[in-house]
Amino acid sequence: MMKKLPVLLTPYIKTRYPYRKLKICRRCNHFTVLGEADCPVCGHAALQNVEKRAASMLQRSMWKDWFVVLLIMLVGIALSESTKQTILFVAGSLLLLALLWTIQRRTKFALLHVQLEKLFQNEAYALCNGLVKDREAAIKVFESGNKPLAYEMLREIGALVHTDQLRIEQILLLQSFVLRKDMDLMLDPLLMNHFNSDLVEYIGELAKIRRDLLKENAFRYILLHEAQILKMEHGESILIGVAGAVVRMKRYITLYPHLLLRYARKLPKDRFLRLYRMIQSSQTANNGPLYEEVMTIYNEKYKWDEDFQRDNR
Ligand SMILES: [Zn+2]
Repeated sequence: MMKKLPVLLTPYIKTRYPYRKLKICRRCNHFTVLGEADCPVCGHAALQNVEKRAASMLQRSMWKDWFVVLLIMLVGIALSESTKQTILFVAGSLLLLALLWTIQRRTKFALLHVQLEKLFQNEAYALCNGLVKDREAAIKVFESGNKPLAYEMLREIGALVHTDQLRIEQILLLQSFVLRKDMDLMLDPLLMNHFNSDLVEYIGELAKIRRDLLKENAFRYILLHEAQILKMEHGESILIGVAGAVVRMKRYITLYPHLLLRYARKLPKDRFLRLYRMIQSSQTANNGPLYEEVMTIYNEKYKWDEDFQRDNR
């Protein structure tokens, strides 16, 4: 078995929209999710956030609208035949400018999104090319031996590139680290549709140290591939660990009773105690096969256990 590396990982900075991770070079138009200022292609400190680029493009088109209205105003004034006509024209143009300003202010956020979409459409090739180069840079870092940095780079790219290849690369790197509960780990972005034993083993690790990361998508994945997981060397203990994570919330117990029915008997005492308490306190679960199974296990194994008795007092 490969020796696992103790590592320190930089916390992951989440953004509300994944594209906020993306930067574009003002000099050579190169897109990247890696680096803050220096462009990896031309070397200039010219990286700028894509939103900033879209905002300046939008500002330019807004200035164009203002320019057109002002031009109409000037032509109107030049062609007016009386002072009254000039005053009327100036007043009309000012009203139009005020209206334009209000519309632009109110629709700025929506227009910014349209501009961003336009930017991504027009620069689709450069965008893909940039992300491919980012991945190549991460692979080079991996080959140079800096695995934690390679993982952090792939994690950044993963915010925008959702391919199984990239997920597998991240999982393999994570599986080569000694994972600790204080690490900034993730699971949902790494889930795939097909069965992958490395992913299952990673889920098994998380079930030991970060149960809170196992949510509905993970439980569904495990249920879907349960038969294949059971064929793995430590498959059953992974499933027991996952069942222990289901016990974390009442909602999960209601949604995944079959997983618990199959593995409740093998749960460690603390997880079974939690399941027992949840089932006892639930109004709706006081019948049905899971309730019966939990009570059978309780009667067989824990009836005289002090921790359980404390509960019944
Ligand atoms: Zn550049």
